[in-house]
Order: sequence, then structure tokens, then C-alpha cells
Amino acid sequence: MSVYLDNAATTAVAPEVLESMIPVLRDSYGNPSSSHAIGRKSRVIIEQNRRAIARHLHCHAKTIYFTSGGTEADNLALRSAVRDLKCKRIITSAAEHSAVIKTAESLVRSDGIVLDLVNHFPDGTVDLEHLTTLLSDGPKTLVSLMHANNEVGVVQDLERIGTLCKAHGALFHSDTVQTMCHYPMDLSKLPIDFIACSAHKFHGPKGIGFLYIAEGLKVGGQIEGGGQERSVRGGTENIHSIVGLAKAMELAYHDLNEHELHIRSLKAQLVSGLKSLFSDIRFNGDSDDPSRLYTVLNVSFPPHPKNGMALFLLDLEGIACSGGSACSSGATLGSHVLRALDFHDSERASLRFSFGRYNTESDIKEALTAIEKVFS
Ligand code: PLP
Repeated sequence: MSVYLDNAATTAVAPEVLESMIPVLRDSYGNPSSSHAIGRKSRVIIEQNRRAIARHLHCHAKTIYFTSGGTEADNLALRSAVRDLKCKRIITSAAEHSAVIKTAESLVRSDGIVLDLVNHFPDGTVDLEHLTTLLSDGPKTLVSLMHANNEVGVVQDLERIGTLCKAHGALFHSDTVQTMCHYPMDLSKLPIDFIACSAHKFHGPKGIGFLYIAEGLKVGGQIEGGGQERSVRGGTENIHSIVGLAKAMELAYHDLNEHELHIRSLKAQLVSGLKSLFSDIRFNGDSDDPSRLYTVLNVSFPPHPKNGMALFLLDLEGIACSGGSACSSGATLGSHVLRALDFHDSERASLRFSFGRYNTESDIKEALTAIEKVFS
């Protein structure tokens, strides 16, 4: 039997999503940029789905720019802020996804921007006083801080950060890849300029996502060569995946509370099972706390001779989870997130278990049985 507890890495495509995509892939082959009727049909499909997505997020359809996923959306936000909106500084955090950190570092090299890292409190939340100090002087700035951390599930207060940014004339981008379709999102109220989405994190297809760019921000092209996506992102559109993304979002928002309750209950079962197996179990970033991202549990196991092999041994038992730490030659190296947030402990293995709506109670029981066997 295999048990999939790596839903923060990616999720299984929902059957309804697959069903929605097949007819589009089969029948809607027209190029949306063609002027003939077959092409125009494809254009209509894209725009209908863009509007459906925008309705869920309470924003205008023209603010949604389709991309190949979260990485491209993050890249587009940071690069546009620097190159088109003339930001000379990016403030971010060492615990961000590499799509943000690496892009910011690359912009330091290519465009000479200043890069400042904001401090965290020991629980992983951003120190807003430090952010205020950073924002109180300096050049035009983009703040990029993720909504929920993909490894430890710490959730930042977008409302407060966005309000701070507005008060200091800074732009605000948030990587919402792990929270989109897991939490309600009302962009008509949130003071934010960019958010990123990736469909494969909520039972949509891989290779599709979008960047929301607030109305009024004039952004040029990152991918040249075509006028698609209002010249921001050239290339013939991935129509069937856009349809799959919109369907996955519809399913997620339709039953949001039910999915959340189900996943929270599975996570609580794993937490209590782990506590009864180990006296010295810890949860990085307080990821067992209900205020944290409910789909993620980052577990720090007590020192054990098999720690370095835990991920591999669980895989042999049919349990798919992921390493909050990379192990080589028995040495725990630690992920950049665990190190940035000071959760890294070379004596302990950190594993991330992440849940989705298709997980069941029996998955949790099987996982606990396998964990007990591996750590016995
Ligand atoms: N940002 C976060 C927080 C993620 O967890 C991921 C996926 O791992 C990404 C960005 C990248 O998304 P994609 O795989 O769609 O490029």
C-alpha cells in the first residue's frame, strides 16, 4: 500500500478536473490568437475561465496573468517590480521559497538592487517592527513575503504587512502558492499588489498558474515574442490547463470548509499518534498549532540512529513524505528554511507530512505504523 502525504509538493489531479480538460484538449485546438471562428472559440474559453477565477478571488479578470506556475509567477512579480515599476530594493525573508530568494539575488547581480532580509520571531513569524524600520527609509521598495511557508506552515498576516507597505509607499508581493484554494482570498479588501498561484497544489494540473497584478500597475513583458496575456507573457496559451486550473479552484472553494475540517482532523490524528509514540517529539514552527497552515506538519524526531535514513525507510514502507532536511552520508544538512528560522538540529530528523482532501484516516494509521517500525 502506498500513502501519499506530500501534498505540499504536489497533489493528485481531481477526477472532475481531468474530465473538464479532456474535451478542451480534444476539441478546442484553435489558436486563441487566430481570427477565425475555431480560434475565437478557444479565446472565449480562456476568457470565461479567467473571469471564473477572478470571481473566486474578488478581483477583476484583467488582473489575472496566466503563467506556467508559481515559480514563473514569483519571477514575473519581482522582475516586473524592478524593471517596470522601478523598485530599487527588495525586502524579503531568508525563509522564502527559492523562486523568490534566487530571483531577488539574481536582480542584485543584474540590476544592482538592494536586498534586505527581514527578521523573524522564534516561531517563524515576521518581525513587523523590523519591517517598519527597514521601510522607514530607503529607495522605492518591493516587499515579498509568502503567505504560508511551504515547509513549516508558518502563516504571515497579509493584511497587516500590506497595510504597512501601503503606508510606506512600498509594493507588496506574496507567494500564496500554499494557501490559494485552502483559505478564502478577497482581493477587493487585501492591500496587495501581486499574488502567485500554482494549480498543482490544489488538485489542478501541473505547469499552470497565474500572477495577480493589481489594477493600475503597468507591467511589461518577461517572455518576449508574442502579444499573449496582454504582452506580459508571450506564447500560445495552455488552454486545457487553464480550464483545469479554474475547475480545481471551483471545487476547492465550493467545499472549502469541509475540506479544511477533514484535513485538520487527519493532521490532529497524526499529531496525537506521534505524541503517543515519542516522548520528545517536536513540531518545527509550531506546525501542530491550529494557527499554522493546516495542510502541513513539520516533525522533528528525537535523536535516533536511523534518522539520516528516515525518509528513505518510510518510502520503503510505502509512505511518501518529504525531508525538511537533506541527508547525505548520515549527516543532516538541513533545509534553507529550517536553517533560516533556526529550527535546524543536526541530531534530529525533520520530516514534512502534508495532507490533501483525498487522504483518509487509514492513511494516518498506516503512516504511524510505518513510523513506529522505522524508529523502533
Ligand atoms: N512557491 C511555493 C511556496 C511553493 O511551495 C512552490 C512549489 O513547490 C512554488 C512556489 C513553485 O511552484 P511551481 O511548482 O508551480 O513552479
